[in-house]
Amino acid sequence: MWFRRDLRIADNAALYHALKSSRRVYCVFVFDRTILDALPSRTDRRVEFIHASIVELDSALRTQGGALIVRHGNTTQDIPALAHSLKVDAVFANHDYEPAATARDMDVARQLKVHGIAFHTFKDQVLFEKDEILTGSGTFYSVFTPYKNAVLKKLDAFYLQAYPVEKYPGALAPSQSAASSAAAAVPAGNAGLAGLAAAIPSLEQLGFAHSNLAQLKIPVGEAGAHKLFRDFKRRMAAYEERRNFPAVKGPSYLSVHLRFGTISIRALARAAWNAWHGAADFAGGRGAEVWLTELIWRDFYFHILHHNPHVVERAFKPQWDAIGWDSGARADQLFAAWCEGRTGYPLVDAAMRQLNRTGYMHNRLRMVTASFLTKDPGIDWRRGERYFAEQLIDFDLSANNGGWQWAASTGCDAQPWFRIFNPVTQSEKFDAEGKFIRRYVPALAALSNKAIHAPWLARADQLKRANVLLGEHYPLPIVVHAAARANTLARFGAVTGRTTRAP
Ligand code: FAD
Repeated sequence: MWFRRDLRIADNAALYHALKSSRRVYCVFVFDRTILDALPSRTDRRVEFIHASIVELDSALRTQGGALIVRHGNTTQDIPALAHSLKVDAVFANHDYEPAATARDMDVARQLKVHGIAFHTFKDQVLFEKDEILTGSGTFYSVFTPYKNAVLKKLDAFYLQAYPVEKYPGALAPSQSAASSAAAAVPAGNAGLAGLAAAIPSLEQLGFAHSNLAQLKIPVGEAGAHKLFRDFKRRMAAYEERRNFPAVKGPSYLSVHLRFGTISIRALARAAWNAWHGAADFAGGRGAEVWLTELIWRDFYFHILHHNPHVVERAFKPQWDAIGWDSGARADQLFAAWCEGRTGYPLVDAAMRQLNRTGYMHNRLRMVTASFLTKDPGIDWRRGERYFAEQLIDFDLSANNGGWQWAASTGCDAQPWFRIFNPVTQSEKFDAEGKFIRRYVPALAALSNKAIHAPWLARADQLKRANVLLGEHYPLPIVVHAAARANTLARFGAVTGRTTRAP
């Protein structure tokens, strides 16, 4: 059983099938050097999250008589070599839909075949995959609402049921046998498997230092995911009213767990479905329906990526590849100001500071900051997408790309190009009392609830009383929104050949 982005025992499709159909199952995880070495920083919350979750998974497997063989190497070489040395008949894994992962899996499957070893893979990460949800004419959906309706029509107890992994615990291979049989077969020079099975490499051995993950108190592993979900169940009924306000504890904060599979999407969707239909032991109602819709958005972006792998590099709609985004030294300066949370727009800056400090950003703010970057300084969505990919603890190619292309108006079912968020009115609406801004931009803490959204409009005496010296304690706006809006309309208008005025 090759664990990847499914770091749990409960309701794990591949693990279930492996245990059900085998006399003995070895569990393996590889810290891939090609991925780790390419990360821009040696302190990465994700690596630490995975590491802590792997330690937890290993100890959970040990309580059931097994253990995790953990390697630090090159996946495409290590998995076939390990499978061969362990003399297994088959490798089991769950589907991964990202283009690079699909290519890796094809490579591994090819090498396994050379050794006569089968590669069995399963749907696990999503409710519906590949071609399971298609339009009446057999094409993929490019609009969310009909996709969601098709999902809700098909979703039933069959698709939501858990894989009862616990029914087949006996097949888990004890670590010692994994270690000794493998160690004998692995050529000299290859890091001793006995050691790898016995001790998980430390974060330092992987080449990383501790981040602020522990300080942030982000619960890790399967236990952490269930802790968060228990808390969210108490709040699910209020999800719809609370989810748009970043200063309020509204969403579930489960995205990192969905990313690394420390909780099953079926378990979450089943709970939401039951709560929506009044069949759960906690309140749900409309809040549960809306939350289930968000889980379906997640599936939708996997659906889009699977059917349109070109979105990784280019606009979903080819027409928008012709947009002339701003570039050059000035654009680089504006981009740096956005990354560092010094645009002079307090909500945008608070959001970027939240991202930099915690690796998380509230969904409303992801929309606001992505819209700002692409529609105010007019910078290519790919630059922002890349920055989020580096910083987000829950970075998921499909959702991140989908979110960026939505905000940039280049995606499927995207924000229309002529609808441009105003960062000040967004702030007044979704952080009316400035609580979120005060948390992340303390320099503005003493401003009134009215002035905090656009300090450059405040009277000199108000700024003085709040001890805010603009340009010194806090920047002046890097762009004038009204002028930037006009530029954006022209930029998109040039591509459509339409008037630069919003319809
Ligand atoms: P909740 O509100 O509790 O939602 C539950 C789950 O539903 C989330 O964990 C997530 O898996 C899914 N979900 C919710 N909203 C969306 C959405 N709009 N699209 C897809 N799935 C959704 N989400 C990621 O998981 N990884 C990303 O890299 C990512 N990048 C984004 C970039 C941009 C520009 C935008 C606008 C959105 C992005 N999202 C991303 C979607 C969304 O912002 C996060 O999933 C959400 O904020 C995570 O917080 P939560 O778990 O508390 O969400």
